[in-house]
Amino acid sequence: MKIFNTLTRKKEEFVPITPGKISMYVCGPTVYNYIHIGNARPMIVFDTFRRYMEYRGYTVNYVSNFTDVDDKIIKKANEEGVDSLEISTRYIAETRKDMEALNVRPATVHPQATKEIGGMIDMIQTLIDKGHAYVAADGTVYFRTRSFDQYGKLSHKNLDDLRTGERELKVSGEDQKEDPLDFVLWKPKKEGEPSWPSPWCEGRPGWHIECSVMSKKYLAETIDIHAGGEDLIFPHHENEIAQSECTSGKEFAHYWMHNGFLNIDNRKMSKSLGNFFTVREITEKYDPQVLRFFMQTAQYRGPLNFSAELMEQAKQSLDRIRTCGNMLKEALETAPERDLNAEEQSAVDGISEFVKMFEDAMDDDLNTADAITAIFELVRSANVNVKTASGEKAPRKVVESFFNTLEMLAGILGLFVTTEDDAAADPEAEEIEGLIAQRKEAKKNKDFALADKIRDDLLARGIVLEDTREGTKWKRN
Ligand code: AMP
Ligand code: ZN
Repeated sequence: MKIFNTLTRKKEEFVPITPGKISMYVCGPTVYNYIHIGNARPMIVFDTFRRYMEYRGYTVNYVSNFTDVDDKIIKKANEEGVDSLEISTRYIAETRKDMEALNVRPATVHPQATKEIGGMIDMIQTLIDKGHAYVAADGTVYFRTRSFDQYGKLSHKNLDDLRTGERELKVSGEDQKEDPLDFVLWKPKKEGEPSWPSPWCEGRPGWHIECSVMSKKYLAETIDIHAGGEDLIFPHHENEIAQSECTSGKEFAHYWMHNGFLNIDNRKMSKSLGNFFTVREITEKYDPQVLRFFMQTAQYRGPLNFSAELMEQAKQSLDRIRTCGNMLKEALETAPERDLNAEEQSAVDGISEFVKMFEDAMDDDLNTADAITAIFELVRSANVNVKTASGEKAPRKVVESFFNTLEMLAGILGLFVTTEDDAAADPEAEEIEGLIAQRKEAKKNKDFALADKIRDDLLARGIVLEDTREGTKWKRN
């Protein structure tokens, strides 16, 4: 497996610290609103990476934080006249729902900044003791950036160039800094803000320190992989490295993976530019699996442009995979148990070629775009070999081999290959099944008006019912 390492700017062979195990930290969202589909890109990309590495036999310890103390959360809390804890609790729950809809598995641990304040105070104290941080007159603690001679190694920036840039970014409190490059580790409380006691002042942590602390606590001082969107390279990840390496004296992470931006009209999707769609809006319009598939149509490091046309294309491509999945599943029900003829045997033998194509693509820095091409090759072969032109039924062994392989490869991408699996995994499945049961009951009681209303209400939500001999089935339109 080769991974592009931002630290060395090279594709490198992945070698874990402990054979068979991977420790991985992915910077998670700041929880002050519904996440947008740009925030979903790292979630989907690194969830796919995790699934693939597990398929390769690794045990992955995957940690991803929720930043639950931040200016934006405080602002939102003040606007609503509630506690910032209420805001963060609400949006952590909503983010988890979106993740579930996108089939992003929960991390091994999802630590929250506000629950790790003690660890942050300890690390800041160590940095002060070692001369890497200092306390200003008002109790603000700053990291002494120039005390870490490797500062800039991740973003490949030179300290003196940074210095010119920083001058333009003068912010209040700057005059207390020994150097404009120094950054905040701890800051004094302001009216209406959450705060905690500390040896320096009643206050709250700066943003960067939480990830250094959580990565060490839940993984180790040195971990295999640290990841996030490319906007985090500087200053966030650069600062994390400085804090962690100055504390431990050890390398913080061996590999740094960064996803490219999800763009709209070639501009980064972001809350501040206002050019965003929330995951919630998009998954109300489209099947969440289409969004997940769309994100995988490009290799993760490149930019990905979002548009209705591209989503439509993604939907059609995914439908092709599912049509094949449904066809195979149906064929399985009646496939005869018989020995394979030479042609059938060669079709089954050929499947390993598609698996190899898929693995080669994924081994090349998680090239999901090429991995999808391999899945389409498999689909094409399944369509030829199972739906034979002569109408003769393919034997069970053939159908099973195609179905199991399709399910396995798509599963690595977090995709379902039959509309049935998809329905069962739908976050609203339980509610929809409940309504279908009510409709059945209404029909039994000859209350056809109610039965029709239930059907029409579901249709208005894009959910189509189909009455079959085995009962009522449903799918998203
Ligand atoms: P934030 O809540 O802004 O800290 O972002 C959470 C995660 O989403 C980080 O890994 C960001 O790098 C990532 N992110 C934010 N916007 C985008 C975008 N437009 N495209 C890709 N990743 C993004
Ligand atoms: Zn982080």
